[in-house]
Amino acid sequence: MRLVPPSRILAAATADPAFRRWLVDWRAALPVTRPLCVACATVFTQELGPAVWLLTTVPGQVPRLAGVCDACASTMDPGAIYAIAAAALGVVVRDAAGFHPEGGTA
Ligand SMILES: [Zn+2]
Repeated sequence: MRLVPPSRILAAATADPAFRRWLVDWRAALPVTRPLCVACATVFTQELGPAVWLLTTVPGQVPRLAGVCDACASTMDPGAIYAIAAAALGVVVRDAAGFHPEGGTA
């Protein structure tokens, strides 16, 4: 699992048309899907997107994206966010010490 700042998501969407279409569809569906911050009950909207994205890759599975709201990203220790996200997403944390908020891996 990696933490990915929005700038990297936008860069990936610029570079990859398929990902860009997915992101546009994801955003358009927000009023219906109403995804939550992975660490609290904040609902993401078209006006309030994630401050930090979590990219989860598990061998043999489709990569998943989840979001962390601005309040959690700015007030919680990055290691705590990582641990909560890992538990919420059912991901095994192998090395939380390698985590950092600018897109590091653990
Ligand atoms: Zn939150």
